[in-house]
Amino acid sequence: MRRWNPNGTNGARFMAGRYGADHLGRFLSIAGCCTVAAALVLRMVGSPGFSAVFGFLSIALIGFCYFRILSRNTARRAEENRRYLALRDKVTGWLCLQRDCFRQRRDYVFYRCPGCRQVVRVPRGKGRIRITCRRCGYAFERKT
Ligand SMILES: [Zn+2]
Repeated sequence: MRRWNPNGTNGARFMAGRYGADHLGRFLSIAGCCTVAAALVLRMVGSPGFSAVFGFLSIALIGFCYFRILSRNTARRAEENRRYLALRDKVTGWLCLQRDCFRQRRDYVFYRCPGCRQVVRVPRGKGRIRITCRRCGYAFERKT
């Protein structure tokens, strides 16, 4: 039995060696709150089936979030966080690209290089032109 320490370090002692919160943890707690809200809204609009699905989802997300915070396997939790951050960067990178393409759609056409999948931007309205990829040097023809 661990004795209660009156000087307030009980929490610190309890958390010693445990993983704690990270970026993935923050995402899980926010996603958990959102699914709770979705479950409540779906119940109010009379959709108990979908409400139950979101209810279970919220329990899973928040449960996994607390499991990770209290976990002592810090190496595995850090690896999960690293994978989450890599995926997040990929998604935000893709979203930024879509936003830039959309903003510049009047003046530019965007193509994906057949050689390296890099997106290349060329001015609109130049007719059929030869495009050279700046990253890999692959040249291809497109109508702009
Ligand atoms: Zn290329």
